[in-house]
This record gives sequence, structure tokens and C-alpha cells, in this order.
Amino acid sequence: MSEKIRVYDLARELGLTNKELLSRLEKEGFSAKSHASCIEADDAELMRKQIISERQQEKKIVEKKVKASVHAMAASKKKTAASKPAQKEKKSSSDEPKEIHLKAPVTVRDLAEAMGKKPNELIGQLMTMNIFAAINQVLEVELIEKICEKHGVVFVRERRDKAKEKAGYAPHFADKTGKTIGSHKKIGRSPVVVFMGHVDHGKTSLQDYIRKTHVTAGESGGITQHIGASVATIGEHTITFLDTPGHAAFTAMRARGANATDVVVLVIAATEGVMPQTVEAINHAKAANVPIIVAMNKMDLPGADPEKVKLGLQQNGITPEDWGGDTAVVGVSAVTGEGVDDLMERILLEAEMLELKADPTAPFEGLVIEAQMESGRGATASVLVQNGTLRVGDCLICGESYGKIKALLDTHGKRIAKAGPSTPVRVLGLSAVPEAGDRIMICDNEKEAKVMAAEVTEKKREGDLQVERKVDFNNLEELFGSEEDGNKPELGIILKTDVRGTLEALTDSINNLKSDKITVKILHSGVGEITESDVILGAASNAILLGFHVRVMPGVNRIAKEKKVDIRLYSIIYELLDELKEAMRGRLTPVDKETLLGEAEIIQIFNISKAGKICGCRVNSGLIRINCKAKVFRGKDLVYFGQVQTLKHFKDDVKDMRAGQECGIRLDNFEDFEVGDRVELYNISQMAPEL
Ligand code: GDP
Repeated sequence: MSEKIRVYDLARELGLTNKELLSRLEKEGFSAKSHASCIEADDAELMRKQIISERQQEKKIVEKKVKASVHAMAASKKKTAASKPAQKEKKSSSDEPKEIHLKAPVTVRDLAEAMGKKPNELIGQLMTMNIFAAINQVLEVELIEKICEKHGVVFVRERRDKAKEKAGYAPHFADKTGKTIGSHKKIGRSPVVVFMGHVDHGKTSLQDYIRKTHVTAGESGGITQHIGASVATIGEHTITFLDTPGHAAFTAMRARGANATDVVVLVIAATEGVMPQTVEAINHAKAANVPIIVAMNKMDLPGADPEKVKLGLQQNGITPEDWGGDTAVVGVSAVTGEGVDDLMERILLEAEMLELKADPTAPFEGLVIEAQMESGRGATASVLVQNGTLRVGDCLICGESYGKIKALLDTHGKRIAKAGPSTPVRVLGLSAVPEAGDRIMICDNEKEAKVMAAEVTEKKREGDLQVERKVDFNNLEELFGSEEDGNKPELGIILKTDVRGTLEALTDSINNLKSDKITVKILHSGVGEITESDVILGAASNAILLGFHVRVMPGVNRIAKEKKVDIRLYSIIYELLDELKEAMRGRLTPVDKETLLGEAEIIQIFNISKAGKICGCRVNSGLIRINCKAKVFRGKDLVYFGQVQTLKHFKDDVKDMRAGQECGIRLDNFEDFEVGDRVELYNISQMAPEL
């Protein structure tokens, strides 16, 4: 009688992530669809034995490698010391830096370079300290100091360039995936979750239910404060729920580089199934690359039809787990509470799969989730801590607002001294109301914060600080991850039509517009007018909006203009496709197009001492124009390709000379011409390449 074991239990036991174990199981030919699947006890035992034996072997190999690298380093040190004693003397006294100055974050490569070492040498040395680092990994300050000390060097941490960091418009200290190595390892953090979905499908009710049942009342009166987020407790775990933002707000935050959400819970009423805003939510989540868990709500009602919901999901590119896909679909009811615990469990499992990590000791990263003017408190902001720790007394800047934190309030309105990763807190003590999505930066003192905030205001006024993130091709890839296409640029489009049939026909035609140079990606499509949400998604994704037989909602054109989003409306299909092809060409790097202007022959050479050599030409056909491009041929050989710098008719400077006329030309940086050389004159214009 063999008992079954769940994948996540076995993963936990073996110290693996669910993802790692699932991929191992697949390799070994065991069938397990998801972390919640069960496998036979015998199979589990087999995996255990295999993994443990592999680990023992790996350990031996690493030990060997470490020994070998220590050996090699010792040998090379001896060799250098023996063969070049004098040089070494000199090196330590002048070449080797006594101090190295680096700005955080410092990678293995940065440190190696600064110390005048090869990165591999440093990696080898780190191995002797039991630290296995990749070349681009970020090292913690304490570790850097330790390494430097060993080499008799002093590490001086330089302040980063203020100009680049204003209000967090600069890249973060560490990216989401970048591991920080050193004494303080990154620790698991709570997932940050938002509910999205069609209106009236139960987003608010579900969130209220969770708040009532899973959010423990605060000590001071137990009233949950509205701070734009709540923290639910499930056993020893917590989940941070951001208030339902609306799809436009979700994407607008993303457009500013503020991807705060780890998981989207897509709420679909089982009585209605997938509706237009459900599709919109799916596309916004997909564009942000955030995983989706489906909460199939209103399961208490007699009209609930789970199969209809699953079919609707399937039709929109989301395959439920029990249909062989990888999206969890959990039946719930916000009225009876049925399935809510399962939903929470699935969120935690998803979080585990995502391996969300943060470091409370790392430099602070966080953003404003909402902000307001409160009577008696002044400007306050709800802030989500993403990495590091925020403390009372810290001086910060967010957007044009700055201040020294007077108090931090948690979700119960209780004063707290500090807040760590994934924690939402209300911050008191700001000079002005910041905007949702503003990144927060900690400064050394209030004066510095004030100066920097003033600079942000100034720059904003000058208009050269783009609030909207201008997305270029590289960023597009970052946003949509075009793995299979390498560096191929993408043109994102949002397509709205009047009826379903046209939408399908147009989608097919657009998907058939194949090009080796650029990919067209329909980021969102739907039936109905063009809305603000479409524009915001367009702005975040640098996409164009195409409407067929539809209108633009009142006020939306103005927003599109502000955000520089291109809306194009059509009533003829081939016109839409033709213009789309033009837009695709427009996204490619322009190519130079040469147009022959004229031809001339060199008949005499003038040597003017000050001005250098000038060639006397006769224009045989067309014309010569000042600053046009020139190719000089001797027989069939091209001897020069450059530009006409000056053009003279006798002593006068002229702009152009026509066929039959004679003139003097000075060519840019070329004097080796001979009588009899032929000169071809060109006009160069830039044009979009063919697809
Ligand atoms: P939202 O627009 O998505 O936030 O939807 P709401 O939470 O406001 O819910 C819309 C309506 O559906 C309200 O009248 C709720 O009482 C009702 N509702 C929400 N969830 C459930 C549920 O699970 N069962 C039933 N019977 N009604 C629900």
C-alpha cells in the first residue's frame, strides 16, 4: 500500500523550489502537472535518493575546485615573488591602489577591475571564502571591505551621482533577480497582490471578506485604516493586497517603471464568465509579465457555471490547470467564504514559485501607492517598501515632494518605527502630495532632499524630465520579453473594432503581416470604443491604437495627445493594413538612399596656398550643390567618397552649378584628385527600409 505525496511537500523536504522539483520530475519521466499534484511514495523515494547522491557528488567537485584554485593562487603568488621580486616591490608601492573608490552597487567585475585583478581570480578567492559568485553579482559593502582588507587596500564607497537619481528616475540599486551576496542573504518576502476583473464580479467584496477574516485587528481599537493596501495573515505567512487599482492605474504605474505587483488575482463571476474588462485585465497583466490566478467568484449562486468561465479563459489564451494548462482557477464566494482559504494557499504557492526575495539591510527601494492631503497631518503618502527598510527620521524625496519622516503608520493606524520589504506604510512629514507610482529615494539629510526635490521641479518645468517612460526597442523587449526573436524590434498594437467578426478577421490579417525585421504584437484587442485604459496601455507599451468602425470615448483623445499615443481610426480594412505596414517600417532604423544629382569632370587643378587644392570642374550633366555627397572615380576605381565643402564660380561662392557650367570645388578632406577624374554628385536622404 503506497501513500502519495504532494510535490510541494517533497520540494520543501528536499530544500528545492517547486519549480526545480517539477522540472526534475519531468526530466525523470514522472508526471506531475503542478506543485499541488501528488506523486507515488515509491517515486518520491527514488527522487530523494537520486537528489541526495547528486548533492554529495556536487559537494566533492566543489571541494576539489576550491582546493585547486587555492593551490593555483598560492603557486602563482610564489612564482611572481620568486621571478620578479624587484617588480613586485615597485608594484606594491606605486601601481596597486591604496584606496579604491567605487559607487554602489559593486559587482564582482567592478571590484576585480578596481583591484587590477582578473574577475576569475576574484571569483576563485571568493570560493575560498565559501561564496560562489557570478561575474555580475552584486557584492555587499561588508564583504567588499573584507576582501579589500585582505589585499591591503581601503575601500571607499562613493556617493552615487545625484543627478541621475532624482526621485528614483534612475535604475534601482539592484534588479529584481540580482542576488546580493555577503553576510546578509536575501530573505523571502510576502507577495504583493492585486485584484483585477470586470466590474461587479466581486473584487471589492472578496477583498472585504479577506480583510474581515484574515486581517487581524490592530491593538488600538481594531479599525483597519485605509492606506491603499492591507496585509492578510495565513498561518506564518502574509500576503500584501494592494487596493484594486483599475486597469489604467495599474498600467500607468507600470509605465513609470513601478511594477509593484507580483501576482494578479483575476476575479470572474462564475455566473457571467469572461467579459470585456476581464480580457482587458488579462492583457494588462500579460503585458506586465505578472502571473495570474483566477478567482471564480459567486460560486454560491445557482447560475454559477465554472465550465463557461474556463472556456472563456481558454479562448483568451489562458489554460486552466485542470484543462492541462498552468493557470490556477479557484472557485470562491465572497458571501459564504467558500474557497477563499484555497485562494490564499494558491497565492502563497505562486509566490513560492516566484522565489520572491528582498533584503531588509539593502538600500531602500519603494514607491508611493497613493497620496493625499489630510487635515491635521498635511501631505501623507502610502508607501510600499520593496527592498531595504524605511525608518522614522529618514529623509526622503519622492517626485517633487520631500521631507523627514515624522511618523510611520501601519495598516491599523498604529505608529511603527520601521517597515521592511512588502510592507505598506503611511508616511507623515512630506512637503507636498506626491503622485502614485513615484519612486522614493532616501537622502542623507533634509537639506539635500530639499535641494534635489527643487531640482526635480525645475527639470519638470523645463520639460526635459519625462514623466512618461519613453519606451525604446530595448525597453519593449524588457516589457514583453521577446525571447525567441533575439534583437528583433516589436510594434505593439491595440486593436478595437465594432463587431466580433471584424475583430477576428483583422487579427488574422495582422498576424499574417510577417517580416524578418520586425514583429507585430497585438497587446490587447476587443470590441468597443477606444477608452482611457487602452491609451494608458498604449503609452506604457509604446504601442499604437487602431480603431475600426469605432469612436474614441470623450476626453480620451486629449489624454492620448498628452501621452503621445497614436490613435488611428479606419473604416476600410486594406487602409488599416497598409498604414500598419508603414508604421512597421517607421519603427525600423532608417536607411540612406542615394539619388544621383549630376556628373562632372576635373579639368584643372588650382593650388591655393591658404585654402589648399581646389579642383576645376566642368558639369557634364545634372547639377552640383554645395554640401552634396561626392564620389571621385579614376577610371573605374572609386578613390574618394565625401562631401562638396565649397563651390565657387570664379571668385564667387555659389550654392549650385548646372550642366555646361565650370566651377571650382573643394572636397572635404581630399586633395589627391587628378585631371581627368570623374565626379559623381549625390543627394542622400533617409528612408524607412523595406519590411
Ligand atoms: P466589483 O465591482 O468587482 O468590486 O464588485 P463588488 O464586490 O462591488 O460586487 C458586485 C456585487 O456582487 C455586489 O452586490 C456584491 O454583493 C455581489 N457579490 C460579490 N461577490 C459575491 C458572491 O460571491 N456571491 C454573491 N451571491 N454575490 C456577490
